[in-house]
Amino acid sequence: MLKDRVAIVTGSSGGIGRVVAQQLARRGAKVVLLSRASDRLAAALAEVRAFSPASEAFAADVSVPSEVAEAVNKTMAQFGQIDILVNNAGITKDGLIMRMKEEDWQQVMEVNLTSIFRLTQLVLRPMVKARYGRIIQISSVVGSTGNAGQANYVAAKAGLEGFAKTVALEVASRNITVNCVAPGFIRSAMTDQLNSKTREAILARIPLGVAGEPEDVAHAVAFLASAEARYITGQTIHVNGGMYMR
Ligand code: NAD
Repeated sequence: MLKDRVAIVTGSSGGIGRVVAQQLARRGAKVVLLSRASDRLAAALAEVRAFSPASEAFAADVSVPSEVAEAVNKTMAQFGQIDILVNNAGITKDGLIMRMKEEDWQQVMEVNLTSIFRLTQLVLRPMVKARYGRIIQISSVVGSTGNAGQANYVAAKAGLEGFAKTVALEVASRNITVNCVAPGFIRSAMTDQLNSKTREAILARIPLGVAGEPEDVAHAVAFLASAEARYITGQTIHVNGGMYMR
């Protein structure tokens, strides 16, 4: 149960983030959706409010520091607390390293890694004061295995896992946990872009034989966000149908 908890979920207008927001709301949390302005953000808020009417949405691009700071300030002004942060927003700009443009490297680092540094720093202030917090970063199985064509994305995901362990050590004495959830191949807009040949090659590497659903990731996030996960910190939960073992 997450009653009386306030959770920020980034990138929550679609895909995994939208379902994470719903699952936290179903468990009673007031959820703040933090995503770029769009019709989808309004639709995602309406869904979340069906479970948790006090939920809110603030439009922000996580790679723009002033927009992120404003969203966190508005959250504090409206709710007076931030108990849970789920850093989910992420993009891909794939290409082999020999041809990867510096701009594609930078953009992925900004959205997938630097934004996490900024947001974590901002929410830690109220969490330290309250002596309570749950921070969950959405990584990826490729952060552990590597993946040809994704040097920027993999570097960001591996980086955020190291970041999580370090921050976990720094704030453990304040009753704040920091963990990662690393999805494998999950049905979403990101994976819908893949052609059928690539999709079949990936499915062949998944022992459970099917793609995961956003809910599979969201349940792991909701567990780490709960009181029951109080003794787990600096860890990564892999949600990949066994893909990591192949
Ligand atoms: P998605 O593209 O469906 O959703 C990404 C969300 O992030 C969208 O709501 C998008 O609007 C938002 N976003 C992107 N850039 C943003 C920005 N600058 N500011 C604010 N919001 C921004 O992708 P998804 O599959 O739902 O991915 C969610 C997370 O899960 C990502 O971190 C991704 O790396 C990770 N992941 C996904 C898979 C998968 O198979 N789908 C596997 C491993 C990891």
